[in-house]
Amino acid sequence: MPLMNEEYKPLSGREFPRFSGIKTFFRLPIADVTDKFDVALFGIPYDGGVSYRPGARFAPSLVREVSSLGRGFHMTRALSVFDKLKAADVGDCSVVPIDQTQTYEKIEKFVTKILSTDKKFISVGGDHSTTLPVLRALKKKYGVPLNFIHFDAHLDTYPAAWGCEYHHGAFARHAVEEGLVNPAQMLQIGIRGPLAAGSDLDFVNKHKITVKTVDDIRNTTISDFVKTLPSFKGPTYISYDIDCLDPAFAPGTGTPVPGGLTTYEVQRIMRAFKIENLVGADIVELSPPYDSSQITGLAAVDAMFELLCLMGESK
Ligand code: MN
Ligand code: MN
Repeated sequence: MPLMNEEYKPLSGREFPRFSGIKTFFRLPIADVTDKFDVALFGIPYDGGVSYRPGARFAPSLVREVSSLGRGFHMTRALSVFDKLKAADVGDCSVVPIDQTQTYEKIEKFVTKILSTDKKFISVGGDHSTTLPVLRALKKKYGVPLNFIHFDAHLDTYPAAWGCEYHHGAFARHAVEEGLVNPAQMLQIGIRGPLAAGSDLDFVNKHKITVKTVDDIRNTTISDFVKTLPSFKGPTYISYDIDCLDPAFAPGTGTPVPGGLTTYEVQRIMRAFKIENLVGADIVELSPPYDSSQITGLAAVDAMFELLCLMGESK
C-alpha cells in the first residue's frame, strides 16, 4: 500500500476498502512540507484555550479517520478537486499541551514554513485560540491584513477571562487589534445568542464588522441569502468553528449553542463564495469525546472538502 505517491491522489476506495489503510486526511499521501504539491493538510492538536468542555486536541485523529469516507468529485461544481490540486497530509504541528505561549510559537513557525514553500493549507484544530498564531504567520507572509471569513456561533471578540488574554473566545478580537485581519473585509456567519451582555456586540459595531446571524440567513431563502455575500479580492482566510452548526448537526463541540446552521446551509454558503485567493483555512472546535456518532467528524470532513474545492476554484 503506497504511502507516498507522486500524483498526490487519495488511495482508491475501489482498490483498498475505505475502512482499511493508514489514516491520513482524505487518504492522501504523507509528505514533507518541502515536497512539491499545492495544499498542505495538517492537525493542530491543542485545546488549552477552551473555556468549557475540552477535547478538541483529539480532532485531527478523528477527522483523519472519518475522512476515509471523503471523495474528490464535487457534483455542484463538476470539479475533481484532487485532479486540480495536489494535496498531502503533512502531519500534526507539534504542541505543548500545558503551555500556550510555546504552542503559539510552534504553530506560527510551522505555518511560516508551509508558507515559505508558497503552499496553501487547511488545518484541523484544536480550539479556536489556535487560529491567532496562524493569522500572525499569514500577515508576515502577505504583508497586509487578510480578508477574513469566520463561521461561528460566537463572536470570539470577548475580553480576557480569568486574567488570560488568549482564550478561544478572544482570538478574533486579537486578530483585529493586531492588524492581522481587515475588519472592513471581515465576515462572521452563524452568530447567535444568548450573549453574556448586550455590550458583547460593542467590538463588532465599533470596527464595523459584517455579522450574518442565523436570523439573517433564515429570514429569506438560502438562494437569496447567498446573493448578499460579498466577494473577496486579495489574500483571504476562512476559519470554520464547527459550532456554527446546530448541536443537532454537530454535538461534538465544546460550547454548543442551539439554533444554529444546518450542514446543508453551510454547503450552500461555501459554494456561493467568490474568493479570488483563498490562502488558508481551518476547522476548529470539534471535540470527539462529545461526538458519540461521529456526526460532527463527518460535518468537519465535509467542510474540509468544500474548503479544498474553494481553493481549487481560486487557484
Ligand atoms: Mn470560535
Ligand atoms: Mn464557537
